[in-house]
Amino acid sequence: MIDYHIHSKFSADSNEDLDAIFTRARDLGLTSIALTDHLDPYPNPERNLFVFDKEDYFKTLPAYREKYPDLDILFGAELGMIAQMVDKNRQDLASYPFDFIIGSIHSVELQDIGSGEYFPGRNLKEAYRLYYETMLECVKIYDFFTVLGHIDYIDRYVGYTMGHPKPLDDRAFAPIIEEILKEIIRSGRGIEFNTGGLRRSLGYGHPKPWILEKYYNLGGRIITMGSDAHVARDIGTHTPEALKQLRDAGFKEVFGFKDGDFKKAFTIKG
Ligand SMILES: [Zn+2]
Ligand SMILES: [Zn+2]
Repeated sequence: MIDYHIHSKFSADSNEDLDAIFTRARDLGLTSIALTDHLDPYPNPERNLFVFDKEDYFKTLPAYREKYPDLDILFGAELGMIAQMVDKNRQDLASYPFDFIIGSIHSVELQDIGSGEYFPGRNLKEAYRLYYETMLECVKIYDFFTVLGHIDYIDRYVGYTMGHPKPLDDRAFAPIIEEILKEIIRSGRGIEFNTGGLRRSLGYGHPKPWILEKYYNLGGRIITMGSDAHVARDIGTHTPEALKQLRDAGFKEVFGFKDGDFKKAFTIKG
């Protein structure tokens, strides 16, 4: 088993100790994990609430590879993609030896989704359309991320809009989502299966079953798996439900990433 989406104290919204993460992963018998701390650089640096000191990150982490030799540890980041930041982000990330980059949409038109800032003044349908259009644009221009993060992430936060306690049925946006998935497949990248949705009682991991099936049916096979844990106890949680959702969509294996290439991490049994 692997967990390729873990936040540590390097993320602004986590205080988790590195030893706590690695011992937890080891105790669970995970073979490979990726630390994917938040990098969400904005054009206005005053809004850079979610960035970490990359110098410090790469100075601190290598000692842990020696301390936990049985664990394959990837030094990664979860990059919050903003279209006008693409060149700067490409340059910034290339200056460091990142092993694995999750490309995520956390904001649209410079408005943060997770804080609810994005929703007021938009009807939910428009909010969804714009979210997926922004994702498509970023998937096309951000040619340096490894996997696309939590595709239907917006579902987690629609509770912020009055009168919409439930996520919108996003099949209305199937043509845009299909284009996103085709671009991922065409470019040899992958998507992640993010179990955070199961932990948040959405009843599914991201992406939800119809998007997973669509990806598979379009020929998408490259999929990693991650908990989006911000505390060590959430690492590797909801694995049985996650594997069932993947199996139901047709997937037979989950991929890891090694030396710049996707490699099968384990077979989904059953
Ligand atoms: Zn995220
Ligand atoms: Zn995350």
